[in-house]
Amino acid sequence: AAKDAGGNRVCEFNHEMLSKALRRIEIENEVRAAFKNDEFSFALQAQVEIATGKLVGFEALIRWIHPQRGFVSPDEFIPIIENSESMIDLGYWGLKRAFIILEKLDEIGFSGLKVAVNLSASQFLDPQLIPFLKEQLVAFSRDAEQIELELTERTVVADIEQTLDTMQQLRTLGFTFSIDDFGTGYSSLAYLKQMPVEIIKIDRSFISGMQDDNADMKIVSSTIAMVNKLGMQVVAEGIETAEQLQMLATMQCEIGQGYFISRPVSEKDLYDLLPLKVSNGIWIDLSKTEN
Ligand code: C2E
Ligand code: MG
Ligand code: MG
Ligand code: MG
Repeated sequence: AAKDAGGNRVCEFNHEMLSKALRRIEIENEVRAAFKNDEFSFALQAQVEIATGKLVGFEALIRWIHPQRGFVSPDEFIPIIENSESMIDLGYWGLKRAFIILEKLDEIGFSGLKVAVNLSASQFLDPQLIPFLKEQLVAFSRDAEQIELELTERTVVADIEQTLDTMQQLRTLGFTFSIDDFGTGYSSLAYLKQMPVEIIKIDRSFISGMQDDNADMKIVSSTIAMVNKLGMQVVAEGIETAEQLQMLATMQCEIGQGYFISRPVSEKDLYDLLPLKVSNGIWIDLSKTEN
């Protein structure tokens, strides 16, 4: 019986592997079509100054609504396409979209906000990235300071020399950099010191553990202290409760992002909601949870 069970397990395992591999291949192919069919959009999630509730900008999060599959999470499809041509295309689409969003925000009277875009390693190492961004700056006559480029520790270590060089050049153009999911990768404080990074985003996992896990609490508070001492900005990701927000305020965390402040919303919803939600630059919804 034990042998049978073992045998079955092997079968199920293979079956699961096969279906996973098939889904991978399907998704890889479908991304190409999706791109042509306009199935991608951005959801925007507010970032606020914790001490004041002032809106500082948004993180742009890619959304794929597939005609049959429905919502496909970026946590699933980004890793699948990460090293392919599709990622490069999608990356350029996203960067250009960020400029369009800033233009639309201007039109409705919300100037000077930032839009943060996530970049994967292959995009970042593409030789066309710098010329492309230069072109967009000219085409949109836009201040590069309003565009924040989010890299993870993994992206940085993929090719440290090349990455540093590209970062330096983009920083000279005015773009700002943040390190996303800080604390989950191969953090090296030596790299951090060398990189033209303005912002550190503390990973959600530490924020969510903060209330119950003393170690997480200490990691968060000492990271905030370190980042503040280095003269960089610190963003806490994934704030879901009033208690977390209160703790972060006490720890002098400058900027916050998370469901408690706002869920990511579609561009259209954002343009409709902003005039209702923001007065005198303050994101008035700070103390309310949204659906
Ligand atoms: P990320 O850049 O760390 O983005 C934060 C993720 O946490 C987002 O998931 C966001 O919706 C989610 N989130 C925000 N606040 C909360 C909260 O309070 N609680 C919880 N549980 N989650 C929260 P999302 O949109 O599913 O994106 C997942 C990841 O996919 C992103 O993580 C990023 O690594 C990647 N990604 C998203 N858009 C892009 C893109 O345009 N390009 C690239 N290369 N990667 C992207
Ligand atoms: Mg991010
Ligand atoms: Mg993150
Ligand atoms: Mg993440």
